[in-house]
Amino acid sequence: MPKYIFVTGGVVSALGKGIAAAATGALLEAKGLRVTMQKLDPYINVDPGTLSPFEHGEVFVTDDGCETDLDLGHYERFTHVRSGVFNNFTTGKIYNNVITKERRGDYLGDTVQVVPHITDEIKNAIKAAATDEYDIAIVEIGGTVGDIESLPFLEAIRQFRYDVGRENVLYMHLTLVPYIRAAGELKSKPTQHSVKELREIGIQPDILICRSEMPLSAEVKRKIALHCNVDPDAVIAALDVETVYEVPVCFKAEGMDKLLERKLSLNRPEPELSIWEEVAHRIKQPKYDTTIAIVGKYVGLKDAYKSLSEALIHGGAANNARVHLQWVDSEEIEKKGTELFLSEVDGILVPGGFGTRGIEGKIEAIRYAREKKIPYFGICLGMQTAVIEFSRNVCGLKANSTEFDPEIDAPVIYLMEKWYNHRTGRIEERTRESQMGGTMRLGAYPCVLKEGTHAFNAYGAKEISERHRHRYEFNNKYRDIITCSGLIISGTSPDGELVEIVELKDHPWFLGCQFHPEFKSKPIEPHPLFKAFIGASLKEKLELFHLNEGQ
Ligand code: GLN
Repeated sequence: MPKYIFVTGGVVSALGKGIAAAATGALLEAKGLRVTMQKLDPYINVDPGTLSPFEHGEVFVTDDGCETDLDLGHYERFTHVRSGVFNNFTTGKIYNNVITKERRGDYLGDTVQVVPHITDEIKNAIKAAATDEYDIAIVEIGGTVGDIESLPFLEAIRQFRYDVGRENVLYMHLTLVPYIRAAGELKSKPTQHSVKELREIGIQPDILICRSEMPLSAEVKRKIALHCNVDPDAVIAALDVETVYEVPVCFKAEGMDKLLERKLSLNRPEPELSIWEEVAHRIKQPKYDTTIAIVGKYVGLKDAYKSLSEALIHGGAANNARVHLQWVDSEEIEKKGTELFLSEVDGILVPGGFGTRGIEGKIEAIRYAREKKIPYFGICLGMQTAVIEFSRNVCGLKANSTEFDPEIDAPVIYLMEKWYNHRTGRIEERTRESQMGGTMRLGAYPCVLKEGTHAFNAYGAKEISERHRHRYEFNNKYRDIITCSGLIISGTSPDGELVEIVELKDHPWFLGCQFHPEFKSKPIEPHPLFKAFIGASLKEKLELFHLNEGQ
């Protein structure tokens, strides 16, 4: 049985609980431990797939096709965890399970209640992810202590210590220690209140992680420890950092590994963190700079593209470059044209998205990238719009996706009625009804690459696997006319039926993929396509630079 670390948050939201949990995972893996991670979310949606990215940030997709909370992205970037169906539970999913059981008659006439039925279901969910193949299970509870919503989760983790033994459970609580500028002082009161609230429901935290913009003096730490009833060395300062990938190293410097060692009787060597030191160094002190325009719809909320912006950082680090992101609202391009937003950038990226709004602006941006030979990377919707742009402006078709115009002459992107699902080995059929909602192609699918293409050169492999989240596909009826005009299909499903990657001839680097490569990029293993895209943007820029210098 693994040992458990439960991570809760207090005072305010958005303190970086997911990063703190993930960095703890990295620290423990660096001690040679096998770690699994789980997120329990207090909202009622059964999964986050239906939440607006404006409100909740990105939907992270796992290999097995689950739509999950973006914190699972942090877990995968910091550790070797490969998440799946058991790594993210919401209140909705828990209640759904309990109500299904009740309807089936599993409770045999019991009055079904929050305690014990919901709390037992939560405990089962925790155990489902924490199998014997792991030494440590880190479980993060979403929300902030004091919210009504998270109470059943907190009650379940309180009981957990009694079920599996004191020595096997550790509670970690993340709080804010604000710096009051006018007084020149750090304030511990919000932390004290938050811990008081936790203790009222029966949880005494073992470790406090205190987010702060100023270093915590020994005096402040002692005060917090005294009032919150924790050991003085169990107050860990978590200062703002330049890159989140420094956090495992910062935690070690604060003595977190020794603390975990002692409190969970781990008997493991010192963590080997040189790889994280190196990653942080490469991100903080690069030699080059490059600017990438992200032309999208949710540009106001950066969390909507979390994995994407991280993958660009990784791709930059792999090229010894700092990537400056220029967020461009595609509707602004529709109003003001491309030149204003794109004339200074080294690369253009159109990310995934849904719905009609801003589509024409994206198509204009792609045309600009194609004609001006600026490196272009299209992801999912960004691949579909690249196909539309090419069909319109090179092949002369009246083209669109049926997502945006169901009656269009040339539906180059459309809903397939039937397709062979290589993951399940089944023919999937889309009924009219399911076209509206359910059947997205979700999760990992294999893709075969064509030799000699940008894609093949980037991956250095013939067969790859990438994660999907979309309904629409390339329409094979237009394959001949589009490829004859110069678009290359460089990746397809193994049976050749589903177009997965398109590229342009006679262009420094122009690639669109139907999948979401950003979900698999890690700082330690930057994704090949992001590495190649940033490499191309940089190459163009440096060549231009040398050209100008020579003049
Ligand atoms: N809206 C498009 C589709 O459903 C693209 C989705 C995406 O970019 N993830 O196919």
